[in-house]
Amino acid sequence: MPHGTFNVPYPINEPVLSYAPGSAEREELLSTYRALYNQKPIEVPMYIGNQRLTTADKKVMSPPHEHGKVLGHFSYGTSEHVAMAIESALEARPAWSALAWEHRAAIFLKAADLVAGPYRAKINAATMLSQGKNCFQAEIDAACEFADFLRFNVFFAQELHAQQPESSDGIWNRVEYRALEGFVFAVTPFNFTAISGNLPAVAAMMGNVVVWKPSDTQVYSAQVIMEIFQEAGVPDGVINMVTCDGPVAGDVVFKHPAFAGLHFTGSTGVFRHLWKTIGENLSTYRTYPRIVGETGGKDFVVAHKSAHVEALVTALIRGAFEFQGQKCSAASRAYIPASLWPEVLETLKVEMATMSMGSPEDFGNFVNAVIDRKAFDKIQGYIAHAQDADDAEVVIGGGCDDSIGYFIEPTVVLTSNPHYKSMVEEIFGPVLTVYVYDDTSEQSFDELLTLVDNTSEYALTGAVFAQDRYALDLASRRLEQAAGNFYLNDKPTGAVVGQQPFGGARGSGTNDKAGSALNLVRWVSPRTIKEALVSPTNYRYPFLG
Ligand code: NAD
Repeated sequence: MPHGTFNVPYPINEPVLSYAPGSAEREELLSTYRALYNQKPIEVPMYIGNQRLTTADKKVMSPPHEHGKVLGHFSYGTSEHVAMAIESALEARPAWSALAWEHRAAIFLKAADLVAGPYRAKINAATMLSQGKNCFQAEIDAACEFADFLRFNVFFAQELHAQQPESSDGIWNRVEYRALEGFVFAVTPFNFTAISGNLPAVAAMMGNVVVWKPSDTQVYSAQVIMEIFQEAGVPDGVINMVTCDGPVAGDVVFKHPAFAGLHFTGSTGVFRHLWKTIGENLSTYRTYPRIVGETGGKDFVVAHKSAHVEALVTALIRGAFEFQGQKCSAASRAYIPASLWPEVLETLKVEMATMSMGSPEDFGNFVNAVIDRKAFDKIQGYIAHAQDADDAEVVIGGGCDDSIGYFIEPTVVLTSNPHYKSMVEEIFGPVLTVYVYDDTSEQSFDELLTLVDNTSEYALTGAVFAQDRYALDLASRRLEQAAGNFYLNDKPTGAVVGQQPFGGARGSGTNDKAGSALNLVRWVSPRTIKEALVSPTNYRYPFLG
């Protein structure tokens, strides 16, 4: 038990380094990138308990921008490995969940300092190589957001522990924030190293034990996360990393009676499938599992005729094309008033002509490759569809080249049909579809907002650009349910931990707001303790007299 009531350090967002020419961080990152690129191919094992397990089934890890290059291999596990990971987690559970909070907090605070300090260049370089991010996208994700998640969540956990009920005469009431009774399954996407680290970490921070399955296309940076967890002092068995086919893992996990929670980020279709499977197995479980999932988006930018064109175009470019549009929050459908469209299109053309594309090793490249062959083919299919469609055309970009890496030019599609395929479906690539609306009356803006609200099944992020305050007010009200993260005169991407808690509803997830206290409460099962200091000794109430 703690011998004091401790205050964890007050969290401050990790400053984003500039990587400007001549800066020390630029030199360090480049030399780390090159060292990782040139080193002998590595072998990534599975981390199960205190074992580092490899199998004969090796998968190649290659940078998206150079698919012929072998960075290393990771071992594909089987259902036996998943079962072993569950057993290791459950063995670690009694000691870990009983460990005094300040020790768990110290481990994750140390992990944050390792991420922001000695591991910064390595985790950024690994993210550039594994997911094809440029240095800035890697920095805001792998270094800053990951460190922020760890530090802020420790702070929010302290605040949660401090939430205690009132007591009355002769009674002392307390609430304990227990870990869930069982293990948590963390399933993470390829696109954010920070999310990969946070999903298992936040559950473990609250005393849970975890089986973590990273995405196949993120394993190269996932192994750096495991290195950091190890060095920070996460005990063996608390976070077990298994690399295997998703359904293989799911099949074992969802049939286990000790399955107590799913912490998922990924696509909507996969999440719905997992939820359904959990529902089918409900009677198997000792406790109702917590289901937390942050999923897809079809994020909008709505411009009012009073919008500032340069600010709008900057938001469209950054929002739609940074990290090749592979952000759940990426702007992918835009609604532009007819009166502004000629200027918006012209400015987009001029600005986009200056954007270069290539390897993240060249810091001059704003755009890099998309994650893998599957993504390349899918995105190319949407572009081809627009090129052939009667109600859509490609007005900027459209080029695709997979000869060296999976490169897709930032692309703008113009459609006359507000329900055109790429206005509705998540593409997850550098494709922005624009619908130009008639703005001759205020009524038309009002009607447009209803259209925006009803167009897609998602409700993750959205932005409105207007100088007219009445337009901002109307849009905020009409689009109340259309986005969990709503932006006024800013791009819909780039949420910062502690500042814009992130998540959406409808088809976009359970909206449990990663990086906030709202998420932490899902990983605890509170126990209320009422202690009578002087217990009654006679059953007769006064009214009986
Ligand atoms: P994905 O759904 O293809 O994969 C996510 C994870 O689920 C991977 O680890 C994958 O191996 C695993 N998986 C797939 N099928 C499974 C199964 N049957 N059982 C168990 N695990 C299974 O997603 P992705 O391509 O890695 O990531 C992109 C998606 O993630 C996009 O839809 C994006 O919008 C979403 N995303 C959402 C947020 C958010 O906060 N809302 C953040 C990042 C990414």
